[in-house]
Amino acid sequence: MPGGILTRTRTPVVAGWFTADEEGTGFRLLGTRCSACSAVFFPREDSFCRNPACTGGELAPVPLSPRGRVWSYTDGRYRPPAPYVSDPGAEWKPYVLLAVELEAERMVVLGQAAPGVELADLTVGMEVEVVPGVLNEDAGTTWTTWHWQPTGAR
Ligand SMILES: [Zn+2]
Repeated sequence: MPGGILTRTRTPVVAGWFTADEEGTGFRLLGTRCSACSAVFFPREDSFCRNPACTGGELAPVPLSPRGRVWSYTDGRYRPPAPYVSDPGAEWKPYVLLAVELEAERMVVLGQAAPGVELADLTVGMEVEVVPGVLNEDAGTTWTTWHWQPTGAR
């Protein structure tokens, strides 16, 4: 087998933001939930509950809704901000960025659309689901992330 992809380590681009399930079933974003007020945070909050009305509880990891609806979208003409790492010397590849309102939590989570999804494929309110994705690859590492994939439901 010629070298390359099989020898790369798969590494989440940000640790603890999504499950390690690579099979495409059960892949979920991970937030944290406060035991006192049930507030859910994504990106995960591990130090203290940010609800000003809360006296403070334990923050435990919680999988977020696998589906949501498109709240907004745009094409990426610029390099995305952290936590998206990109090689400033590499050619910039355009991408579609989605803001998705999660089904249960009603919070908006940003992410890139799955490969092959174009702006013309999208409408506000369309249902999408979170799927494992690859953000970037270098010599030794495949940086994994999440993507949004339309489910076909409207
Ligand atoms: Zn709280």
